[in-house]
Amino acid sequence: MGSFSYKEIYIEDGKRVLEVNILPEKHCNFDCIFCPIGRSQNKVDIQKSFDETDSSLIELESMIENTKAELIFINSKGEALVNDKIGDIIDLIKSKGVPVRLLSNGYLLGRDEYIRIANKCDGVIGEIKAITEEHFQKIQRPIDGYTIGEYISNMVSFNKQYKGKFIFEITIIKGYNDDEESIQKIKNIIKEISPDKIIIARMEDEKFKKKLGITDERFEGISNALLNI
Ligand code: SF4
Repeated sequence: MGSFSYKEIYIEDGKRVLEVNILPEKHCNFDCIFCPIGRSQNKVDIQKSFDETDSSLIELESMIENTKAELIFINSKGEALVNDKIGDIIDLIKSKGVPVRLLSNGYLLGRDEYIRIANKCDGVIGEIKAITEEHFQKIQRPIDGYTIGEYISNMVSFNKQYKGKFIFEITIIKGYNDDEESIQKIKNIIKEISPDKIIIARMEDEKFKKKLGITDERFEGISNALLNI
């Protein structure tokens, strides 16, 4: 048994998607107050080695074959880029002729070593939640020295050179980015990043929904405003 974990295969746009988590426990460069995985005991932005990676790679190869996956989605317990074997993992998937989509929170996409890895992927998802410096520090609690300005400019510069499909996921959070001024700011961020696809999300986790979730009407209104620019 390796240390990766998998979700049940599902169909998306007619394709069989295999979702894989390549981190044995949470490792992230943020420590968001609403993180569904819990607190970040390992707040990191440099790569590290994990045990059992060789057997995990063998298991991944047979999972791809047995499930007849047509897309592998690397969606991990935190920031997948900090696994020092992520380049090998992507190379293995590509050698099987299967496209790869990587979920990152997006902050590390400004660093050369991570740009090279993300560029191997057919699709990359970057995210944004808080949009002011104060809120970014307060609710996403990144590694010291991170700024919201750098976060956005990292994704802007990444996508300027990226040849694959860049998907930008924006999570609307009650009291933080759901007012008209914030929506206007988000529109400007979207224009700067110029993603291939936009996903609008909101707090769905039962633990946080009451405090940070928005109504269906507001969600629909904001989605229309952001998806039609
Ligand atoms: S960026 Fe994602 S994984 Fe990391 S702490 Fe925030 S919600 Fe959790």
